Amino acid sequence: MIKPHAKCPCGSNKRLPACCGAFHAGTATPRTAKQLMRSRYSAYALGGLGDYLLQTWHPTTRPAVSAADMGAADTGWVQLDIVDSHQQGNSAMVEFKAYWRDVDGQTQLHHEKSRFVRQDGRWFYVDAELIDA
Ligand SMILES: [Zn+2]
Repeated sequence: MIKPHAKCPCGSNKRLPACCGAFHAGTATPRTAKQLMRSRYSAYALGGLGDYLLQTWHPTTRPAVSAADMGAADTGWVQLDIVDSHQQGNSAMVEFKAYWRDVDGQTQLHHEKSRFVRQDGRWFYVDAELIDA
């Protein structure tokens, strides 16, 4: 399913195993909320990584869905732009624009500010504020 030589979908221009793929495989842990955010975007873009999306979602806000349902979400993500990010202690915010292609082939924008917390040295996605285009 995942081509080993493919570029990472997060737009880093690195190969997948040298970027978010290492986080998905559990051989590395994101050191910043921004890295976690990128790896979660990549997980959505690649599909089939529901376990990763749920594991990196804070238990207090994690949706009660199966990993299969989570991983099945394929919205045709095409590009990620990180707009801004701040970290203060164990809290962080990452603002990003993600672009996806709808059924008519039109590019759509998803603009969001995501909140993250660090617990026991690991970053978790908490929730998000959607920003109107
Ligand atoms: Zn990446």
